[in-house]
Amino acid sequence: MGSGYKIFVGKINYKGWAKNKMIYDTIIIGGGPAGLSSAIYSSRARLNTLIIEKAGCGGLIAMTDFLENYPGFESGINGFELTSKMEQQARNFGTKIVYGEVLSIETKETLKKVILADKTYITKTIIVASGSNFKKLGVRGEVEFIGKGVSYCATCDGPFFKNKEVAVIGGGDSALQEALFLTKFVNKVFLVHRRDKFRATQILQERVLGEPKIEVVFDSIVEEITGSEFVEKVKIKNVKSNMVKEIALNGVFIFIGWTPNTNFLTQNKITLDEKGYIVTDDQMKTSMDGIFACGDVRKKILRQVVTAAGDGAVASISAQKHIESD
Ligand code: NAP
Repeated sequence: MGSGYKIFVGKINYKGWAKNKMIYDTIIIGGGPAGLSSAIYSSRARLNTLIIEKAGCGGLIAMTDFLENYPGFESGINGFELTSKMEQQARNFGTKIVYGEVLSIETKETLKKVILADKTYITKTIIVASGSNFKKLGVRGEVEFIGKGVSYCATCDGPFFKNKEVAVIGGGDSALQEALFLTKFVNKVFLVHRRDKFRATQILQERVLGEPKIEVVFDSIVEEITGSEFVEKVKIKNVKSNMVKEIALNGVFIFIGWTPNTNFLTQNKITLDEKGYIVTDDQMKTSMDGIFACGDVRKKILRQVVTAAGDGAVASISAQKHIESD
């Protein structure tokens, strides 16, 4: 059992670095499904466990209205409801959660320092579960109209577009799922995808193609989003014919994938893949001793809540073994 309070770890005196500081067994960076799952396993193992979360627990899936592929919920479940339950479960077992942005981490012998703007924490192991953030299109008008018609969250902003017309950009699961969700409010969704085939899972494609409020616009990219105070038009180009047309609408929802949240690792020698995802082995070990990664932030083939939860459990067990072997 880890104490979390020792100033001496093994035979090494850490007084200099960790003087008067609590030494956590495990610090989990990120409170999404991967981090919360890790925390549940770590706290049940009686490790002194701290989650550092940037905004609010739940991760990006908390913004999803409806999840129907997480086992155990035969009628589906709201993303926020599911992750709130995970958070409560972690707290019930003793996980402590603090809020703040991790700026960097440092290592010394077997200890690690997690650095925030106004505070540092010392720990024996780190589990990076910092997830990913939505990608931007990078077109004119996108940033200018955020909150004025441009959105990355249908659950948050969909109700503002009641009886209006909107575009959804992207061809993956997120774009199709959120386009379907938006039909609850809007009169029409233009689903704009850069190719002539969706990447999304078949069942979502079938639903989208059977939904009269959705008009699919294949082979098209957004060139510009325009308006005065709020979004009024989107200019799209057909990549096969090069024809450009303007669609009058009120909102543009962008779901074109994610980039991993690994900026705070830039000074470390942690191995990332070419897209910036953390490379781990099947025990969630990174290239740095005592640092583990789980969930969407790591290189993997399937980014889902169910795989995030599984990763989190494995990362926690690996961290426990690491502490025992120290
Ligand atoms: P994704 O699978 O990476 O799909 C991104 C989509 O955006 C692709 O269709 C891509 O086009 C398009 N795209 C990328 N960059 C673009 C750009 N610059 N301009 C225009 N289009 C661009 O991302 P996602 O849909 O957010 O899904 C991420 C992960 O979450 C996936 O593993 C997905 O399965 C999972 N997810 C699952 C569910 C579910 O199970 N219900 C729901 C949401 C998300 P191309 O196809 O041409 O590359």
